[in-house]
Amino acid sequence: MTESQTDQLPAQQVEAASKAFEQEFERFACFTDASRDLAGLDLDQAIAAERALAELRTRHLGKKSELAAVKKLIGRVAPADRASFGQLVQATEAALVKAIEEAEETLRQYIETERTARESIDVTLPGRRPRHGHRHPITLLRERIEDIFVALGYVIEDGREIETDFYNFTALNIPENHPARGELDTFYTTDGFALRSQTSTVQIHAMQRRGVPIRMIAPGRVFRRDTPDPTHNPMFYQVEGLCVDRGISMAHLKGTVTEFLRRMFGADTVTRFRPSYFPFTEPSAEFDFSCFKCKGSGCRICKNSGWIELGGSGMVHPNVLRAVGVDPQQYSGFAFGLGIDRMCALMYELDDIRLLFENDVRFWEQFE
Ligand SMILES: [Zn+2]
Repeated sequence: MTESQTDQLPAQQVEAASKAFEQEFERFACFTDASRDLAGLDLDQAIAAERALAELRTRHLGKKSELAAVKKLIGRVAPADRASFGQLVQATEAALVKAIEEAEETLRQYIETERTARESIDVTLPGRRPRHGHRHPITLLRERIEDIFVALGYVIEDGREIETDFYNFTALNIPENHPARGELDTFYTTDGFALRSQTSTVQIHAMQRRGVPIRMIAPGRVFRRDTPDPTHNPMFYQVEGLCVDRGISMAHLKGTVTEFLRRMFGADTVTRFRPSYFPFTEPSAEFDFSCFKCKGSGCRICKNSGWIELGGSGMVHPNVLRAVGVDPQQYSGFAFGLGIDRMCALMYELDDIRLLFENDVRFWEQFE
């Protein structure tokens, strides 16, 4: 800026700066006029206006503003005019500051009131319903199984998941050298306890506590060393049943399992038993039932065999009864067990059993 310009124009420069401000400030004028109604404004608009106002302040009062440039000229004005010029600059600056501060205050109050209103609770509005979850398919299936057996006169027993060697193996007639006892099959804690590898452990506890006769089922988690794949998981659910009384025979076992499967999959369900071997039962049998989907004609679920393998069963081994102080000469019983996860995967046609434990809510929602 040259000397000649400053001599000629300082007062006009102040006026120009003031005009430029007024033009820009026009849109904020509503905030300095108490008679204006701000009802049309919403919170977001007010916040945006507050920001724009701060920018306007920088532009017109900041270090690089026209007014700041003019202030530097005060010293160069002819001494006779200096005082009045100085006053003009100050008055102009004060007017700008006042206008901006009034608008800022109005906006600040408006924003605070709106925020409070937005956060306050309208007690007349209907309540927001909490989103109800629903039960896991394994739980649903377990409850169906429990209902059937309770109706057949069975009690439901629960048990611990960490067991001693006695309950997990010895009392179940699993010999010392049996591979199931090995670390390749069973999880052990560092102090020698085992994560139960079958819910049969509960039978032992229940017979010790309740004595015989007894009719019980024990649903629960069991653990085996397995690499997870579509049909295996190191943790899974079983339900095990036990009936001990005088004169219990294989016929009772077959009748009970058959009745259970009929109630589960329909009255036309056919059951078959195949001889097998388990340490804790003698004789032992695996049981299959006619495919619930194709009714025996063959489909994807039953791999075209018409049958679905479900579980193991047999007459309680005399050594198991002796382990809990029951005389096998007087009492006999049967036991059976099946995997709930596997049954669940079959019924819902899941290709991968691991889906049951992945906790993907999108997957679960379809079972609602
Ligand atoms: Zn089938």
